[in-house]
Amino acid sequence: MRDLSRCVHHPAVSQDGFASLAVPTYRASTIVFPDAVAYANRRYRGPDGYSYGLHGTPTTRTLEAQLSALHGAERTVLLPSGQAAITVIFLSVLLPGDKVLIPDTAYPPVRGFCTNYMKPRGVDCVVYDPMIGADITALIDARTKLVWLESPGSTTMEVQDMRAIADAAHASGALVGCDNTWATPLLFKPLDHGADFVMEALTKYVGGHSDLLLGSISIRDLDLRQRLKDTMRMIGIGVSPDDAALALRGLETMGVRLAHMGRTALEIAREVQDLPAVERVLHPALPGCPGHDFWKRDFAGASGVFSTVLKPETEPALEAALSAMRIFAIGASWGGTRSLIAPMSVKADRSVVPWTEDGTILRISIGLEDPEDLRADLMALFKALEPAR
Ligand SMILES: *Cc1c(COP(=O)(O)O)cnc(C)c1O
Repeated sequence: MRDLSRCVHHPAVSQDGFASLAVPTYRASTIVFPDAVAYANRRYRGPDGYSYGLHGTPTTRTLEAQLSALHGAERTVLLPSGQAAITVIFLSVLLPGDKVLIPDTAYPPVRGFCTNYMKPRGVDCVVYDPMIGADITALIDARTKLVWLESPGSTTMEVQDMRAIADAAHASGALVGCDNTWATPLLFKPLDHGADFVMEALTKYVGGHSDLLLGSISIRDLDLRQRLKDTMRMIGIGVSPDDAALALRGLETMGVRLAHMGRTALEIAREVQDLPAVERVLHPALPGCPGHDFWKRDFAGASGVFSTVLKPETEPALEAALSAMRIFAIGASWGGTRSLIAPMSVKADRSVVPWTEDGTILRISIGLEDPEDLRADLMALFKALEPAR
């Protein structure tokens, strides 16, 4: 072999006696085959075999298997973002003439996808009250192929009666999918409560460090997995093994991060609920939160994201008070080590249950800073927002 060939042939080295606790990052576009017959038969390797880097590497398969184990799923597939995980479920299940039901509190880009992408392609979308429970039966007909849940709901934190909704959907032959990003499998396992698909934005708590974008879908029915993989192959999407490796690392510390963030978030939520600037606090573990009883029934705990509805009189002071915060960063994509605060308005995103309160909603994601620093920063904010007497 000459030098230019040596440059592109990696010598095989022994792996004997090498044992590391880290999952290796296997990068690949091409998969090579031991002989011509193996190459000719590559499509018979099935969805668990390796055929092309886009369809999986040992690194991505390790993350998939770990998430499957946590959810009690048969298989998991990885997508380049949480939103991609949602749209791939919809694209795999819905054909022209079909109908999908989504909650009024869905992650707003889901509504956008339904209105601007699915609808022009002949798929109807019906928005429902997230607290509808078993009454969802009235909205389901023979065309309804998918009922989507997000619990708790984006920003306003309504916890859904998943069992009642799933039973109603299944009674009419519709599939059930759930966005479980807030809870992670450590706090809620939707497949045990009637979901056919559980989707998560690994971007948030699994990644945990605000440095990657990734989504997952876990399922028990292998036919559904095949439909998801077929859709992904048709549109040509897969994930980077480097992102999967970051998620594998994040997963190792997710338990302690969540426990700490959940505890701090609940303490702070309790402390701020009676402050003069605050109308009410929306946290699934507090009795005033819609669906609190379902949270108690179904969830093993609370993560670190909750919201506070401000009194409308705080509005003039809000921008300056937020900009003066020293520990909290202003931003939307939560779940990392840094605490975030985001001023939100949901009025335009609610079509079935109008949001009538005028005060801004502050969505708060508690991170890993010293809780005393977080308290001081938040108390200064709420003090600056106190209505003048
Ligand atoms: C962030 C988020 C998503 C989207 O995830 P991306 O990876 O940012 O696309 C979906 N659902 C919920 C509940 C989220 O918080």
